[in-house]
Formats: sequence, structure tokens, C-alpha cells
Amino acid sequence: QSQEVSQARIDYHVALQALQEHGTRMVCSGKMHTDRICRFDYLCYCSEAEEFVFFHSNSSVMLPNLGSRRFQPALLDLSSVEDHNTQYFNFLELPAAALKFMPKPVFVPDVTLILNRFNPDNLMHVFHDDLLPAFYTMKQYSDLDDEARLVFMEGWSEGPHFDLYRLLSSKQPLLKEQLRNFGKLMCFTKSYVGLSKMTTWYQYGFVQPQGPKANILVSGNEIRQFARALMEKMNITRTEEADKDAGSAEDEKENKKKDEYIVVFSRSTTRLILNEAELIMALAQEFQMRVITVSLEEQSFPSITQVISGASMLVSMHGAQLVTSLFLPRGATVVELFPFAVNPEQYTPYKTLASLPGMDLHYISWRNVKEENTVTHPDRPWEQGGIAHLEKEEQERILASKDIPRHLCCRNPEWLFRIYQDTLVDIPSFLEVLKEGMKTKPSLKKTKITSTVHPGRVREPQCQTSVQTTNEAKLTVSWQIPWNLKYLKVREVKYEVWIQEQGENTYMPYILPQQNYTFSENIKPFTTYLVWVRCIFNKNLLGPFADVLMCRT
Ligand code: UDP
Repeated sequence: QSQEVSQARIDYHVALQALQEHGTRMVCSGKMHTDRICRFDYLCYCSEAEEFVFFHSNSSVMLPNLGSRRFQPALLDLSSVEDHNTQYFNFLELPAAALKFMPKPVFVPDVTLILNRFNPDNLMHVFHDDLLPAFYTMKQYSDLDDEARLVFMEGWSEGPHFDLYRLLSSKQPLLKEQLRNFGKLMCFTKSYVGLSKMTTWYQYGFVQPQGPKANILVSGNEIRQFARALMEKMNITRTEEADKDAGSAEDEKENKKKDEYIVVFSRSTTRLILNEAELIMALAQEFQMRVITVSLEEQSFPSITQVISGASMLVSMHGAQLVTSLFLPRGATVVELFPFAVNPEQYTPYKTLASLPGMDLHYISWRNVKEENTVTHPDRPWEQGGIAHLEKEEQERILASKDIPRHLCCRNPEWLFRIYQDTLVDIPSFLEVLKEGMKTKPSLKKTKITSTVHPGRVREPQCQTSVQTTNEAKLTVSWQIPWNLKYLKVREVKYEVWIQEQGENTYMPYILPQQNYTFSENIKPFTTYLVWVRCIFNKNLLGPFADVLMCRT
């Protein structure tokens, strides 16, 4: 390992002198520990103490300078999971003068991104918590390029998906346990610490029952750009794309239809579909398509991705493997199966992913409601859903329950018991749900023309008023189109006008197709009205309101 981080590119004495003279410099973004990412010059790591070290000198910088608030509770989250108390980052402080008495530091010349992986054994966690956040953190800081070095500090070994982490940069990522190979003191010439949480869409239920994040900031576009970049690194090309120029349009349509297929993502150790063959036959017959099965136990990740990236439908039991739906082509359908007593509405990481705006996936869930079709495993270890260790009464309560009550992550025995059941899928009810669900599938053509360009403000808003009688008045509001509209083809342009009588706390909203309107209903003489106007494209793309108008009748 150690020869990989070569010392050739930096002059050792220059670096050492810089560290001794200038110490460590830190400049961060983010107001809170939960949204902070810090950039360091000469952040050091002492493998003996397993601590990062900040060296103070006359020219060191520490921004934010939090004093002891740095420990309340931490400087920042080292994983993308919000405020998890096992994922905090902090450093120890020393005067640079102490370097004289310390082991000679080894310098890491690469620009380094330091982070914690949250749960590298689980594919959902790998993508949602680590790969996407790391990918977009690297996009945020341009010196975290293809040559960047990633350092994983959570302390786990490589794990089953390490090849995926390798795709993020051309350099081998380092694990915490490998850092001691660099000697007792290593110093990162330039490093970033922390991960962007901008792309995460799900909270796992540490403080409230699991569910979509309150304020999702990512759209399908960013997820798909990431998926495309990863596929490129895995040398996967979409076959559909390659075939584009072959034959006439009609032929192409025929061929495409013939080439369409369904993927069943199967699990071979836990949470099984007991009648997978029957399910596959039913799917093939219902949709007149080929059905291909994949599993993490049978195929390499790139070959699974290749298959999924051309599929029309992905069918799977609830589970981490469903995160691979981010590789599905637009317009595909995700079908998620839930074991007995598990409510699909309460476990929605994959539904949320499929439903992100612009992801353009259609999501359908099916739930086993027949208790005779479930196979439980009460005698397994607790982490695989066993309940033998519980008191008799608790066991009986769990066995009698037909719906898991809301619960927190991660060791709720009833949840584990139910989620690790195997299921005999009732084919008629499955097909019924599927057929019903496909009725509401939007056509891709329609979604494609929905642009995501928002209107600008309406320009030159004006009002004119006139008093008719002692209790009748008129209010005419007019405006010009938003500046960007003249460059756009928009299917439907409408305007929204809000009218509020000054001092009242309610307002009347109006939707109008034209650029002016005379209001006379509910308009009183000798009254001041506040009027807001905004433009709306295609029913739901809202523009900003123009400055409020004060209109006195
Ligand atoms: N897994 C799998 N086949 C199985 C069981 C699990 O490939 O039969 C994978 C699963 O996709 C995940 C990891 O092993 O990446 C851990 O599975 P677990 O059931 O613990 O988590 P879940 O899928 O419920 O998130």
C-alpha cells in the first residue's frame, strides 16, 4: 500500500517546513455540524491514537472557530446519515512546536476525501449513503477529481461492494486499518472531510419511523447522471441506444417490442419468493415478454446493471437490491413485493426513489395478505428475524399481529420477524395488482415534453381602479409575459393572481389565461388591495411572484 501514495510529487522538506511554520488550515462550509464540509491543508492523522490532529501555529486557520462548541456534539457528520452519534468527526489540537517531539510525518500528496461509509454490506446503503453523496461531493469541489484519494474512516473492511467504491476515482480507496501502514503520523496535504447530503432521499428511522426525508433536494436528473457515469466506468453501454439507427421506424417499433423484457431480481438466502418459477411464467404470459432473473449471489454487479439498464420492468421482494432501479431506463416499472404484515406505505426507500421528479419510473407495490402463504423463521438468530429469545407473551403477540405497528430502526423484533419471512406469491392477486397499477402508468411521451424550465417573474405588473357606486368598484390588473417565455415552447401558460384586502389575512386566488383582468366581484370602493401575480407553465411549474402591487380603489 505504502508505495502507492508516492512521495515523489512533493518535496518532503518543503512540506515538513510548511507544516511546522503554518500548521493546519481549515475552512468549512455549513452552519451546523449536519451540513458542514471542511477543507484542510495539512490535516494529520495519528494512527496510534486513532485521532486526527490539528496543528496550531501563528498562521493556522480554523473557520468556523467554534471553541468548545466543536464538541456539541461534533464538528461535522462524517457519513451522509444526519446527526448519527457514531458518525461524528472531530480532531485533537496540538501546537506545531510539538512536531519536534513526534514521529516524522508521512505526507499524502493526493487531494483526499475523508468520510465514513454507513453500512457497506448493504447495497441500498452503499448507493444512497456513500456512492451518490461521495460522487456529488466530488463534483462540488473540483480538485476532488479522478485522481482524488478516498479514505474510509468507519473502520469496516472492504465489504462485498468495494468494486463500486473503486469506480469513484482512479486511485485505490484507503481503509482506516490501512492508515497505520503509513507510519505513526500521516499528514494530508489537501483534504476534504464530510459528505454532501444533498442527494439523499430517505431517513432510516433513528429518531422517527423511517420514511422519505422531509425536504428532498435531488431529482431524477442527478440520479441518472450519476448512474450514467457509473455505467461508463463499468464499461456498460445501453444496447437500446446502439440499435437506434437500424431499420425503418415501424421495424424499430416492432423490434423494440420484441426486445422488451422483465427482470426479476431474486434473493437466494433470505426473504425468498417461494414460487419464483410460477411468478416468472405468469409475468411472461401476462406481458408477452422474456423474463430474466438476476441475483447478487449469481451475477457480477456490472452484468446485473447491464441487464437492468435495458429492462421494461423490475420485479423484486422489498430489499436493498431494489436500489438498482436507478439504472432502469426512463418509463420502466418497478414492482416491489412485501411479505405478510408489512405495510408498503411505511417502508418506501424504493418507492421514493422511483417517484423522484424526473426519475420517470412507474412504481407498483404488492403485499401478501394471505397468512397461509407466508413462511416464518422464529428460530433463526434475532438479526434474521428470530423471536425464540423473547418472552412467551411477546412471541405470541408478534405471531398474532397482522400489521407491524410503527417502530424505530433497527432492532425491532416484530419488524425483523416479519421482514425476513418467505412468501408464496398469490399469482391471481399479484396479476390483479399489476394490471390495475399499469392502468395509471403515464406514457413516456407525455412526461418527456414536460420541461423543467420555470417561468420568470411577470414584468411591468400594474393596476388601475375605478369606483362605480358607493358599494361597487373595479380593479384591473395587467402585466407582461416573463422574459424567458419568448424563447420557450410551452404547452400551457397561465397566470395566478392573488388579491388581499389590506389588513385581512386571507386572499382570493385566481387562475387566468390572459395578461390582464378586471375584477369587480368582492371589490369594495375606497379600499386598498395587495395584488400578487405569477406565471405558471404546464399547470405545475410555478414562477416567482412579481413585487406586490398596492391598489387603492
Ligand atoms: N441480499 C441478497 N440476497 C439475499 C439476502 C440479502 O443479495 O438473499 C443482499 C441485499 O440485497 C443487501 C444485503 O444482502 O444488499 C443485506 O441484506 P438484508 O436483508 O440484511 O438487507 P435489506 O435487503 O433488507 O436492506
